[in-house]
Amino acid sequence: MDALWSEPERLAYEDALAFAREHLAFDPRDHDRAGKLWREGYLTCGSRLFPGLCIPTQFGGRGLSYPETLAAMEGLGYGCPDTGLLFALNASLWTVAMPIAQFGTDAQRQRWLPGLSNGSLLGANAASEPNAGSDIFSLQTQATRDADSWILNGRKTWITAAPAADLFLLFATTDPSRGPLGISAFLIPANTPGFQVVRTIPKLGMRTAPMGEILLNNCRLPAESLLGREGRGARIFQFALEWERGAILAPMLGTLRRQLDRCLDFARSRKQFGQPIAKFQAVSHRLVDMAIRLESCRPFLLAFARTKAAGRDALALASMAKIHLSEAFLQNSLDAIRTLGAYGYSEDAGIERDLRDSVGGVLFSGTNDIQRNIIAQSLRL
Ligand SMILES: Cc1cc2nc3c(=O)[nH]c(=O)nc-3n(C[C@H](O)[C@H](O)[C@H](O)COP(=O)(O)OP(=O)(O)OC[C@H]3O[C@@H](n4cnc5c(N)ncnc54)[C@H](O)[C@@H]3O)c2cc1C
Repeated sequence: MDALWSEPERLAYEDALAFAREHLAFDPRDHDRAGKLWREGYLTCGSRLFPGLCIPTQFGGRGLSYPETLAAMEGLGYGCPDTGLLFALNASLWTVAMPIAQFGTDAQRQRWLPGLSNGSLLGANAASEPNAGSDIFSLQTQATRDADSWILNGRKTWITAAPAADLFLLFATTDPSRGPLGISAFLIPANTPGFQVVRTIPKLGMRTAPMGEILLNNCRLPAESLLGREGRGARIFQFALEWERGAILAPMLGTLRRQLDRCLDFARSRKQFGQPIAKFQAVSHRLVDMAIRLESCRPFLLAFARTKAAGRDALALASMAKIHLSEAFLQNSLDAIRTLGAYGYSEDAGIERDLRDSVGGVLFSGTNDIQRNIIAQSLRL
């Protein structure tokens, strides 16, 4: 499948893999137990502008193409076992930095993108609410105009990296009577008075990307906090989510490769009944299925990245990539545990963490049921 890459894409992958092996091959077990983001690891990624890989160089990013960026993310995932760290980094890139690059004023781009690219700032996207999940445009957080300010009130939940993030792209309604056309997007620094992360939410996986709940209590923002025009929030949300669905799972492809390497080595060396377990067809066929799932992921990622690089929408393709990668991650993690037996089930192997990390993939960025609805619509069903 390497043949799918151009030479610059392969180089971006090799470079990121070498970087991750040298700087990010750190056992995340303690951070996972503590539910803590590895901030130093994020800063290290920032020293090579990984959080801003495809952000234009004039705004402090690395200026790579989208296919190069996804190849590099795959390389990072292969070399770095801290899936939550890379999840938080990618959430910041695709759902905060990219919308600012696309919809921001020059002043907003100059103010935020260099920090979001060099790791001094981590971004988080806040849309979900207690009563607005899949039906996201029923959100109730309200923004009202007061002279030169906006005043926000409401509650956001399930927000990736909220306890650690510095900047939030947050969606609120500025005109509830207009439904999706009344939604607007705001850029909110974490230290804004009236803005508070009130709870860190304990959860199954991705614990190194801690998740939080936010309360907005008469949170006053200057007019220039609005991203894009008033009433353009739904469009900005869809833009961010298309990127997230198509790209955020790229590092997990590296995780799948690491798992397969592990399982192949184990199956060749572990002996039962006097022979390596790889000689049992039940085991070798499971490894073959893992390899097929892994190798069929990259074409989806590349098709998405090349379509976006050509300036075209890739809504259905993003949903297909998201379903395919997230379900491959879940199934391969389970199959890796079956292959390694009780050792795979133990914390020592690190695969039980992969399995826990993989479950969220079928839920975030819109559940896979919602992705299937989007694809069905594209098929005019
Ligand atoms: C790991 C993780 C990270 C997240 N990060 C963020 C974040 O950073 N920012 C943020 O804003 N949110 C985030 N979320 C929230 C996420 O976007 C929501 O969980 C998701 O949109 C689903 O909403 P819900 O959980 O309220 O489920 P619900 O919408 O209540 O859905 C419950 C069930 O009903 C099904 N369902 C609902 N409507 C339909 C329909 N029309 N057709 C078919 N089935 C349907 C769903 O598929 C699901 O099975 C995150 C969630 C997770 C798990």
